Amino acid sequence: MITDRTTDALAVPGAQVGERVVLTAPTGSARHAGVLLPPLQDGEPHRVHTDKGKVLRLDGTWLAAPERSTSDRRRDRRRQYCDDGRPIYRHGDLPSGQLATRTMLRQRFRRRPADGQEPIASYMAYKGYAPLYAVADAEKLPALPPARKAAWDQARTCARCNAVQAAPYAKGVDDRRYCSSCLEPAAAAWWYGERVAGRVAAGAWAADLLADVRRAPEKVALVYLGYPTSVMSQDILAETWDGEVLLSARVCESDAFFRKGKDSRPADLAEAFGKLGGRRLISWRGDEYWLSLLQETMREHSGDLGLSFAGGHVGPHWDEWRAERSPHLVEPCPFRTEHRLHRQEPPSWRPPELLAYVRHAVTEMATRASYWWRATCLDTECGLALPFGSSASSDRWAERHHRKTGHIVGHTTETGTTLPDLVHLEGRAS
Ligand SMILES: [Zn+2]
Ligand SMILES: [Zn+2]
Repeated sequence: MITDRTTDALAVPGAQVGERVVLTAPTGSARHAGVLLPPLQDGEPHRVHTDKGKVLRLDGTWLAAPERSTSDRRRDRRRQYCDDGRPIYRHGDLPSGQLATRTMLRQRFRRRPADGQEPIASYMAYKGYAPLYAVADAEKLPALPPARKAAWDQARTCARCNAVQAAPYAKGVDDRRYCSSCLEPAAAAWWYGERVAGRVAAGAWAADLLADVRRAPEKVALVYLGYPTSVMSQDILAETWDGEVLLSARVCESDAFFRKGKDSRPADLAEAFGKLGGRRLISWRGDEYWLSLLQETMREHSGDLGLSFAGGHVGPHWDEWRAERSPHLVEPCPFRTEHRLHRQEPPSWRPPELLAYVRHAVTEMATRASYWWRATCLDTECGLALPFGSSASSDRWAERHHRKTGHIVGHTTETGTTLPDLVHLEGRAS
């Protein structure tokens, strides 16, 4: 292939192979823009791959000129040719139908550079340049076997509206691929589905725990475990569901830091600690590691009880139940960019109050009908309508939203675990 600049200069004065040119018919009746390609063989004319997908031969029927004027180029201070003398394209200006890197050839066109095909331009990537090949001259790869062909097509088909494109679509929060206008409504639908599933799971978990309590009250213990300090003293409070205290102490191993009247020595707690063995232990959140430290301290006195919080943590279920959004909602795509739940904390960390709150949360999740508190922004432009699992969550969101935007938010309630309707949100996204 001829990429010699003198020959190019003859083809289109002022434009090199790989650069963009415009073609006009001498009569002025037609005009095309595209990328200048080298001749297929010595002695043949250069070609232009137009933006509309045609490959035209420069055999004298067209007047060709560079797309950008010389003064335009001079004003552009960026580098225009790579070390090998090929024109440079960047993310924003790559003619993606005509030029492609090896990867793009494979992913978008299922092609590869033909034998002896030289790159005619360069793509500026994070590090250095990737060679760009003329798509029109690349050879087709063999057809994919049916299963891989199906996966290939799926990655290039929007899972919501079935739009199709050459490059794979971006993945949404649910790992399926969507076109850019479907990403947000798909994320919203996914979010509502997760919330319903989360509330159902939280309710089932709590109902199961209450059933355990009724069946065998002695098999359940609610546990508060404090932060283990560097001198190994640690608060622990364990109660039965009915509020009988099994163990309430500050355990201290160290002689130097032992405070008389406040702390207890591990040896003195052996019997009380032993009462935790064989019970279903429930805590607010996962302090599994703290529990293992405490067990290590107590091992020589109470033996190996094999305690764990496998019985469950209330906090994560409570997050799901209340279904409160994170305060950091980013418009205009509040579901795609932020789909985590707000982390609920108990109103007090004092051990007796915390355990009382654990009982309250479990009871509410197990026995209340699944209600949604819906906060609807009455501003017609904004119109966010979000479901929440509790009036507190819904109030908090409404207050934050009002403070930030000045919008008035209305409140309604609705029963059931059915998927809230998405009509409104889909309307916003389009
Ligand atoms: Zn779509
Ligand atoms: Zn609003």
